[in-house]
Amino acid sequence: MLRGNIQEGILDWLSELLGHDYQRARVEASGAGCINETYEVSRRNSPSVFIKVGSPAQLDMYEKEVKGLELLRQCDSIHVPEVFGTAQLDSCSVLAMEFISLSPLRTAHESRFGAALAQLHGIERNAFGLDHHNFIGRSHQINDWKSDWWEFYCENRLLPQRKLAQMKGMRLPLLKDLDRLIEIIPVAMQRYQPRASLLHGDLWSGNMAVDDTGVPTLFDPAVYFGDGETDLAMSRMFGAPGQAFYDAYHEHIPQQDGHEVRSKLYDLYHWLNHFNLFGVGYLGQVELTLEASLREID
Ligand code: ADP
Repeated sequence: MLRGNIQEGILDWLSELLGHDYQRARVEASGAGCINETYEVSRRNSPSVFIKVGSPAQLDMYEKEVKGLELLRQCDSIHVPEVFGTAQLDSCSVLAMEFISLSPLRTAHESRFGAALAQLHGIERNAFGLDHHNFIGRSHQINDWKSDWWEFYCENRLLPQRKLAQMKGMRLPLLKDLDRLIEIIPVAMQRYQPRASLLHGDLWSGNMAVDDTGVPTLFDPAVYFGDGETDLAMSRMFGAPGQAFYDAYHEHIPQQDGHEVRSKLYDLYHWLNHFNLFGVGYLGQVELTLEASLREID
């Protein structure tokens, strides 16, 4: 529940932003975010508004989320919430966007979703990165442009997480193995250079849904231009969609040899991030993925 004065401040702000009286709107907890408090704000005769509320310092995260959502909205086969605005109020930050009535991705939606993801990945640049840094969960995500994918992946993805892991107390032998992997990747993997596709960036099953007309819907992004296989790898990490999703995707973007090995390298970034954000419960996954990757490419 929002404290009375916070709710009042947000409803005043929404009234001004949207040009309607929201002071007497209903505010109900909605969705179960990993990071933010999330609410549906509803008033008679107007579509509902979805808001995220966090500490004042979270404004930067919300502004980056807005940029990410706007990039994703270029893909017209995916429903991405329209953003209304962000604000830093007295004791909180808030992000307001279109409320979408979401349902989980079921078998009947999988083909359409896979094809839509391929369309998103068809939006390309000629280098890897983005014109701004953003966040993956609460962690900073570095997006300095690189023309070489593996240089991008090592310097902007694995290395920053490795530095954080050291500060979080990861054991030295594991850090050394990680250093070894980061050292050998550019040579061992150099024959594979993917296209620089627009990625969701945090495509676990909880960030995929369909709207009330069955249109594939994405939210909570960590966008950049990179290898589309990174999104596919993450889509399998916490409960994967069915095979129809992947079959439809690969009808548009054929699967390439060696994807199993790369998939482990791509999972490693997210397992490291989970270790850094949520603690030792994820150490086993880091260790398994790291050792398997070393066995395969060293
Ligand atoms: P967090 O950044 O805290 O992880 P999310 O963006 O993932 O928050 O949102 C939390 C949950 O709220 C999602 O899992 C989803 O179920 C729901 N949700 C997200 N965006 C919307 C939206 N625009 N409309 C309705 N529900 C949403």
